[in-house]
Amino acid sequence: ATMPPLLSAIANAGRHGVLVKSAVVMERLGQVDAVALDKTGTLTEGTPRVTDIHPLKGSGLTEDALLALAAAAEYPSEHPLARAVVHAARTRGLAIAGVRDFTSTPGVGVTAAVDGHMVAVGASARLLGGNGGNGGNDDSGARAAEVAADLEDGGRTAVLVLRDGGPVGVLGIADRLRPDAAVTVAALATLTGSPPMLVTGDNPRAAERLAAEVGISGDGVRAGLLPEDKVEAVRRLEARGRKVLVLGDGVNDAPALAAAHTGIAMGRVGSDLALETADAVIVRDELATAPIVIALSRAARRLVV
Ligand code: ADP
Ligand code: MG
Repeated sequence: ATMPPLLSAIANAGRHGVLVKSAVVMERLGQVDAVALDKTGTLTEGTPRVTDIHPLKGSGLTEDALLALAAAAEYPSEHPLARAVVHAARTRGLAIAGVRDFTSTPGVGVTAAVDGHMVAVGASARLLGGNGGNGGNDDSGARAAEVAADLEDGGRTAVLVLRDGGPVGVLGIADRLRPDAAVTVAALATLTGSPPMLVTGDNPRAAERLAAEVGISGDGVRAGLLPEDKVEAVRRLEARGRKVLVLGDGVNDAPALAAAHTGIAMGRVGSDLALETADAVIVRDELATAPIVIALSRAARRLVV
């Protein structure tokens, strides 16, 4: 028996480890002519590790105390950076305190009450704002910004820890590039006729460094984006008549996955919201299957008249 081309393409995608949710999606995949890629968890493996622990002078915290404080606040979060912090604390055998009043802001970080202190953990640029946190009358904000800049120059993601509004330390976190990131970027560029854009909530230094490693030039990088900024980046391309594929994994990518012509989520590291929102899911964790399903769609569409 012969299956309709789009259905056999879905079956074929499945054999490559990609769950395509419908025939309509299978068809749309072949129409994309621009790609926006997330960084953490999409171009990178999404299992980052804590590499640096810097308590600030005057915080009274040891490395272990800083890490334990951050891990307590991060414990309820499913973000890959949060998992890294908790993993590091466990590896050092530290006790992780229970928290109250946990909040999480996609693209920014988390807050929680730990042992009677309000603790915030997240993107240094956003948490420090323009004024170095509340900082009181000391220069802890300026020193935290310095440590963060050094870490970012080294390709790390700098995660700031605030206690009761004042910076107490900075963690450096690093993630590995996926082994198939560069070949995937090249294949997507060939298929769509232009290099993919990198859209990330991470800092510009880490983003540009990683972009260069996979063959995306500086002007293809949009860093420091909040979830709604990723949507805006997609809308701007679509307003110019492009059909955009978004590839992402996080809660912060869900709005862009929904807004795009087609959205693909990374299955292994992906958040539940991203997996639900996306039109297709890379189940077997191989980024390089994204260009393969585009090619499968195009081949099937040639058979559908
Ligand atoms: P990406 O777009 O690269 O996947 P995200 O938007 O998820 O990154 O996160 C952007 C930035 O926000 C991170 O680089 C980090 O600085 C900060 N951030 C977000 N969530 C957390 C968290 N749970 N813990 C620490 N930092 C966080
Ligand atoms: Mg991500």
